[in-house]
Amino acid sequence: MLLTDARVRAAYAEGAGIYRILPTAVAIPENQDDVVALVHQARESHLALIPRGAGSGMPGGNVGNGVIVDLSAGFSDLVIDPHRRTARAGASVSWAEVNDAAKPYGLRLPPDPSSGAFATSGGMVATNAAGPRTVRYGSIRSWVEAVEVVEADGTVRLVKRGAENGGKFALTAACRRLIADRFPKTRKNSSGYALDRFAESGGEIDLLIGSEGTLAIITQVHWRLDPIPPDVAGAALGFADLESMADAVPHLVSLQPSALELLDESLLQFVPDAPKVACLLLVEVERETAAAARGVVDDAVRGLKQAVTHVETAVNRAGLEQLWSVRREASPALSRLPPTQRSLQLVEDGCVPLNALGAYVAGLRAVADRRGIPVAIFGHAGDGHVHVNALPDTTRDGWRDALRGLFDDVTDLLIRLHGVPSGEHGVGRLRAGILERFYGPEVMQLFRDVKRAYDPLSILNPGVIIPATDWSPVAALKVGAGAAVIPEDIATRLREVERSAAWATPKLELAH
Ligand SMILES: Cc1cc2nc3c(=O)[nH]c(=O)nc-3n(C[C@H](O)[C@H](O)[C@H](O)COP(=O)(O)OP(=O)(O)OC[C@H]3O[C@@H](n4cnc5c(N)ncnc54)[C@H](O)[C@@H]3O)c2cc1C
Repeated sequence: MLLTDARVRAAYAEGAGIYRILPTAVAIPENQDDVVALVHQARESHLALIPRGAGSGMPGGNVGNGVIVDLSAGFSDLVIDPHRRTARAGASVSWAEVNDAAKPYGLRLPPDPSSGAFATSGGMVATNAAGPRTVRYGSIRSWVEAVEVVEADGTVRLVKRGAENGGKFALTAACRRLIADRFPKTRKNSSGYALDRFAESGGEIDLLIGSEGTLAIITQVHWRLDPIPPDVAGAALGFADLESMADAVPHLVSLQPSALELLDESLLQFVPDAPKVACLLLVEVERETAAAARGVVDDAVRGLKQAVTHVETAVNRAGLEQLWSVRREASPALSRLPPTQRSLQLVEDGCVPLNALGAYVAGLRAVADRRGIPVAIFGHAGDGHVHVNALPDTTRDGWRDALRGLFDDVTDLLIRLHGVPSGEHGVGRLRAGILERFYGPEVMQLFRDVKRAYDPLSILNPGVIIPATDWSPVAALKVGAGAAVIPEDIATRLREVERSAAWATPKLELAH
């Protein structure tokens, strides 16, 4: 059942993100019984299990030196219930597959990760994924009705929302006060166990969502679906400086857009034909009628007449697709850059309170200048959530130290602005060592208590969320002289997967 061939292990050594770590073995379970058997085997032989979907997660939660458990293929059942507006999806089913099946009934899963073509149901729940439409419809968390899991002792359970049962972990009144006090008040958060949401709902499901494979292995997800709004309109608004963009965001959020995205000039420079502005906001508005949607866009444009230097509007879905092409072209452009500007996701997911958005982007630019590492900045402006790709020259001496400096400076900046290090990608290995700085030692102790309650032997994804003792954000990089050695043809194919975002590729194929 465990594949230990060197080429197979190499094919699973990388995910999206910056790491390359050779696993001890790979397992490809075909059903729930296989997963249960793997858990028992892991308990007996003290093996670490690393649950994995498509491998598109950024912070290294999908790689490690234990056994990779590839759940991207064996769990592909999908049933839509149009009357109850639900979908029952195996862990392997992607966001796109759920939506393709729901569309004929006029339904959809509203949060829309840009990785929806390949992100699996298991992976999205495990990271509490999100997307442009989260500004209006919330993250994946709001749309999960139940999860079927295999626990660290091999028990299979269906954990439902509304079942007000803390499961293996309970909070005292003092803990609740601590959580209320210490959890940052950002609009999005995928940084550690969601104790704030758990305290609010009392439902164990809120601990499991966003637990990044460290508490249980998800085999099935019950999704809640929503009717597709009939009409849509939108605009692209260009600004001459950061301040006017940041000032415009609260006005735009008050109009309840279904998406409000930021593209900074540091990113726009890589997109041919992008407008020449300091920053661009892309707005999408969904309403019950075309007139209502257009009305909101008109209000948005009128309200910002003095502030914008560039305006384009769209009155239907086709027009909007056209406006948003600049957003779609940005990521592939970055991933194709040469080693002198290698795009690395190191500080890629910080989220701050909305009123700190301008200060965060300005701070990012300053820190990047100081460390001599160019950055490309974009993100979900309406949620104060900013993606940053670091673009170091990996052919120059000292780039790794500069990268570490950038990581530390951005961490300081986020703490100063009361932000969180991850809005949607998760903590993974990358950010495990800084969580305590954001939440303080008492909350970190609660995180450890949660982990111990669910996984006392620490067989599920050790080193993720709860840091390993030798934690370093820049150890085990896939780039540079120190990268683990794997067969060159496999390294080339993994790079190609990354460049073309072909994460749906069965990883076993890369080994053959
Ligand atoms: C081009 C690109 C664009 C992206 N855009 C977005 C975006 O818009 N929004 C967003 O939120 N993310 C985005 N991501 C990140 C990524 O796609 C998401 O984090 C996604 O949810 C990961 O799904 P996956 O199936 O690839 O999971 P993996 O990467 O395989 O795993 C991610 C984490 O989930 C755990 N996990 C996976 N499956 C299970 C399971 N069945 N049971 C328990 N734990 C499990 C893993 O252990 C790991 O910690 C993007 C990535 C890329 C490459």
